[in-house]
Amino acid sequence: MTAARPAAAPARNTTSVPTIPIGSPLLLLGRGADRGAERGVVCAGDLPAPDDPTLAARARDAKAALGERVMVLGHHYQRDQVIEFADARGDSFELSRQAATAEAPYLVFCGVHFMAESASILGREDQTVILPDLAAGCSMADMAEGRQVVDAWARLERAGVAAQTVPLTYMNSTAAIKSFCGEHGGAICTSSNAPAAMRWAFEQAPGGGDDGKVLFLPDQHLGRNTAVLSLGLSLDDCVVYDPWQPDGGLTDEQLREARVILWKGHCSVHARFQPSMVERIRAERPGVEVLVHPECRHEVVLEADRVGSTGQIIRWVEQAPAGATVAIATELNLVKRLAEEHPDKDVVFLDDTVCFCATMNRIDLPHLVWVLEALVAGEVVNEVRVDATTRRWARVALERMLALPGDGASLTAVVGTAS
Ligand code: SF4
Repeated sequence: MTAARPAAAPARNTTSVPTIPIGSPLLLLGRGADRGAERGVVCAGDLPAPDDPTLAARARDAKAALGERVMVLGHHYQRDQVIEFADARGDSFELSRQAATAEAPYLVFCGVHFMAESASILGREDQTVILPDLAAGCSMADMAEGRQVVDAWARLERAGVAAQTVPLTYMNSTAAIKSFCGEHGGAICTSSNAPAAMRWAFEQAPGGGDDGKVLFLPDQHLGRNTAVLSLGLSLDDCVVYDPWQPDGGLTDEQLREARVILWKGHCSVHARFQPSMVERIRAERPGVEVLVHPECRHEVVLEADRVGSTGQIIRWVEQAPAGATVAIATELNLVKRLAEEHPDKDVVFLDDTVCFCATMNRIDLPHLVWVLEALVAGEVVNEVRVDATTRRWARVALERMLALPGDGASLTAVVGTAS
């Protein structure tokens, strides 16, 4: 194709997807859309055909034409045909770091919606964040809507425990939830610094922590694994708040006695793994080392040899000796890539069925080519931008995380102060 430099002020495609109020109880396919997440959103673009043999060449041409005006960020869980074009590769935390320091005016985020929001929160005001397919959401992030969390906080107030509760949200949550945490004295955590973040949250509670509580959003498994395995709390110290049940499905007494109130959310990829899969792989491959992500169920983590973030899992595979057998419980695109990159090791997937992240996989080469060629033609499509108020409080929550010991601190220098 003939590629031209983008115009100085590209036109913006705001699309005409009907918007529904956040917190709507049900969203039937084709009956509206929640652009605060991916629910009900369709990608209305004039996409190239998926079997077009020139797609890879078109992506290369468009990137070359854009030069340093564009940075493509690729999550580890992306398919190979997309990750090939990534200027930076990483998990959501690492890509946030890249977004915070990027010079390019256009950030094409090959990940899911909450990650593009994080790039908008951390990036400069004059940068434009593009998600190639607006339907690439995260089922976990969508399990906690802004209105539901406001209702949950009101429930804690009625039970008389809100004043001693600190909200803590996983990076895998919407900008609205991050903002809520910032505004209510809480913070954000990643899968690698969740223990430090939860200890910090308890320390913020009036009285120094013994009476303190943490409301952990939105992944109950990461929250439970952190509370029990890292902080030494018991399973009985944890209760699960179900936003779809009256009063969250909990009595006032249960809320008063709990130390950690876990939101009833999970990752549809990691929650699939079962203890029986660990049992099977150990029987089939004696000596296997089982690595699992902390979004896995507690009973799976208990059976594993190591539990760690995506970045930690990658490092463990890199450090494993030649000839080692490693079984991994995380997203399949990453496990397949690790197996290809380490042919001297036997790297296998823990599940015996296919387990891709369906929403992450919505980013494909046709969508990437479409957004890049649109930029070349001077048009911005599929922009994700977080409003100023949400951005401000989300950055407050993020900065509290950055002040924690561990890998959060490494972002401090690049994020700057809340605005
Ligand atoms: S792997 Fe799980 S947490 Fe990550 S984007 Fe997919 S659904 Fe969300």
